Amino acid sequence: MGLSTVVTGIGELVTNEPAVGYGPLGLVQDAALVVDDGRVVWVGPSASAPDADRRVDVGGRAVLPGFVDSHAHLVFAGDRAAEFEARMTGTPYDGGGIASTVAATRAASDDELRAGLARLVAEMRAQGTTTVEVKSGYGLTVDDEARAVRLAREVTPETTFLGAHVVPPEYAGRVDAYVDLVTGPMLAACAPSARWIDVFCEPASPHAFDGDAARVVLEAGRAAGLDLRVHANQLSAGPGVRLAVELGAASADHCTHLTDADVDALAAGGTVATVLPGVEFSTRSPYPDARRLLDADVTVALATDCNPGSCFTSSMPFCVALAVREMGMTPAEAVRAATAGGAAALRRTDVGRLAVGTRADLAVLDAPSYRHLAYRPGVPLARALDV
Ligand SMILES: [Zn+2]
Repeated sequence: MGLSTVVTGIGELVTNEPAVGYGPLGLVQDAALVVDDGRVVWVGPSASAPDADRRVDVGGRAVLPGFVDSHAHLVFAGDRAAEFEARMTGTPYDGGGIASTVAATRAASDDELRAGLARLVAEMRAQGTTTVEVKSGYGLTVDDEARAVRLAREVTPETTFLGAHVVPPEYAGRVDAYVDLVTGPMLAACAPSARWIDVFCEPASPHAFDGDAARVVLEAGRAAGLDLRVHANQLSAGPGVRLAVELGAASADHCTHLTDADVDALAAGGTVATVLPGVEFSTRSPYPDARRLLDADVTVALATDCNPGSCFTSSMPFCVALAVREMGMTPAEAVRAATAGGAAALRRTDVGRLAVGTRADLAVLDAPSYRHLAYRPGVPLARALDV
């Protein structure tokens, strides 16, 4: 056992444990929490907190589980600010700009990629994110994809092989040959460093993969021991969501264009619907209808999709504010989706909630309540708390 720490002066504690506090967020007012060896060992009212080796008083601030950002693309080089500007003046988004990031990423050194990744992970942590999933997908050769998942593994256990992000320019018009590469030597090179496999399933994009190709990719990944997640229904009501549910994927991500059958499949299956409203903000597109998903009792996660093209925000608080303002979620639903929802999308029970035995991953707000995340958009209230 290391030194134990009691965190006191918590004005409002979000535990996400209805058995610990009240409401769906499991709220405890005037709370304390004891941490030992990186784990929570006690949670409850301040007045009955046990002694510990150290004491940290947060002065009435709100504390919540650190955000779980279950969808991010952080291994890349280059900048697409000009593409963003063009989009804001009318050029539609179709995923084609990814090729420019691929070229810059292939040309970058390991240390350049490592430095960019570290900068973004630190940026996230400074905004309250304590778990992040990181995808490959800007290398698209055997060596470049293997390098990306290896670098990602240096910063997180939640690493995703996304060789099937887009068809690279050298395979234009030869999707089947590229899928053979992805499911053959590329998968073999990436699987040792990856927990997950993902595919951009989008028949409406000339750069992405249709349902048949996506199925081949996902089944190959599963056979190699990886668990599944899918970029699904971002640009059209394609087959991605139903494929994700059918194959038992942990998460179907985007869910922007959904049919009633898609919603029914998500409600009946075990796949989390991850919404990424920063993408719709940054591509000036219609938002997903998160209210419809919640009303159908689908488990919803909220993530950034931080990437250099369609959404270059690393801020979970910004996504919480968008979810409330633009997708009909209550502040409590948005905070739960950004913490417990993200954990569900990564099939983790040790993060996204605060109870005896969970990781002591804490976010503290310079505010008295979680509601301020949506009430004060754009204000840097949240940070990870080191204990
Ligand atoms: Zn993505």
